[in-house]
Amino acid sequence: MQARFTALALALSAVAAQAQPLPADELQAMLAEVSPARIEARIRKLVGFGTRHTLSDIASETRGIGAARRWITAELAACSRAAGGRLQVEEQSFIEPAGNRVNQPTELVNVVATLPGRGASKGRTLVVSGHYDSRNSDVMDALGEAPGANDDASGTAAVMELACVMAKRQFDATLVFMAVPGEEQGLLGAAQWARDARASAFNVEAMITNDIVGSSRGDAGQHDPKRLRLFADGLDPLVRLLTQANANRPANAADQKAFAAVQAELLPLLQAGANEDLPTHQLGRHLKTAAEAAMPGFTVQLIQRRDRYLRGGDHIPFLERGYAAVRFSEPFENFAHQHQNPRTENGMVYGDLPEFVDFPYVADVARANLAGLATLAWAPAPPRGVRLDASGLTNDSTLEWAASDDPEVASYRVVWRDTDSAAWQQFKDVGKVGRATLPVSKDNVIFGVQAVSTKGYASLASYPLPKR
Ligand SMILES: [Zn+2]
Repeated sequence: MQARFTALALALSAVAAQAQPLPADELQAMLAEVSPARIEARIRKLVGFGTRHTLSDIASETRGIGAARRWITAELAACSRAAGGRLQVEEQSFIEPAGNRVNQPTELVNVVATLPGRGASKGRTLVVSGHYDSRNSDVMDALGEAPGANDDASGTAAVMELACVMAKRQFDATLVFMAVPGEEQGLLGAAQWARDARASAFNVEAMITNDIVGSSRGDAGQHDPKRLRLFADGLDPLVRLLTQANANRPANAADQKAFAAVQAELLPLLQAGANEDLPTHQLGRHLKTAAEAAMPGFTVQLIQRRDRYLRGGDHIPFLERGYAAVRFSEPFENFAHQHQNPRTENGMVYGDLPEFVDFPYVADVARANLAGLATLAWAPAPPRGVRLDASGLTNDSTLEWAASDDPEVASYRVVWRDTDSAAWQQFKDVGKVGRATLPVSKDNVIFGVQAVSTKGYASLASYPLPKR
């Protein structure tokens, strides 16, 4: 035991704690199947609908958001058939009332492809999304060209590729691949799905939105095809409770009830100092670790911030309802190629056009998602009832948790890090027990407990509440 805490052992276990178990052959096979050529073809097809503005024509077979949506649904259905039919593809339609950026009640349609899980983890849902609507300079222009190659055909194509590759495999958690409209009009499609999920008491363990994931180049010539930003912060429910603000629409009775439940779940964590250890932060750590382990040389830049300054995305309605939700985005942005009417001015080309998309980069973004989703879908649920026993004064730390009856749980892992570190630095596997004592002071580090599957996949970490 003593030897374990020598400098060398600490360094070694620090490296090991960063890395999930070596990616299984199946994961490597899926990563290799992700196709930049298919992603390029799908982005070009989406751009080919001229505009995918949420208020654009839905009757045409060739132009507008209706044609785009029907094509996405048909593509996913074809992938489902090719993979044996387990991927369930649905169009979920609702009427969005007139509001800020919707001039009349409008039918919006979420395209949702569900890959059912199995066993004790079947009820855990992992959601990954991109938005298929687009816009140009005028957010209310439903007629003009709005190619939306990067924002967000890139995210939509990445999610379609994930669905088609993952549909051929079996996972323990249920995976939901979503292409949603209404993002540019106020995150409307995602908000509808998140609201329904809360109302149905869906256990959404993780939500990832891929939005503006199409380019590795910035507007000052920066170039980094080996980096992806991950925005992960989880304080929204508290902010929302404090301000009573609602970004999307006035809170209804169901939302109010949901927020009360969120408050009950998250406030004790915050009161126990988990400012950077809410489920969203644990999800961010998992996604960074899993992608970097599976993709040598690729960096997921974890940013503990909800989104870029004054910007938003489809993870926000999930965060607002207490779900762990994060956003992937490219390393830099080029604002000449977002939310712009396509045109040339003084020799400068404006517009969100496919010639500014880096298709191999989008494939790497899909791979980063895939590594995180597959390893999480093969892992057990996070441990419940995790407590740090602070009833006696001691320099050791005793943690306890409710042992799971899931036969897939092989062991529990205690992870910890310095209070000024964003990533887990140390770990100890303690076996299939409900309590463990470590010779590390609870006062000096932040702990988490993970459940580890029989195949070695670790769950998201659970933060311990103090036990008096
Ligand atoms: Zn977007």
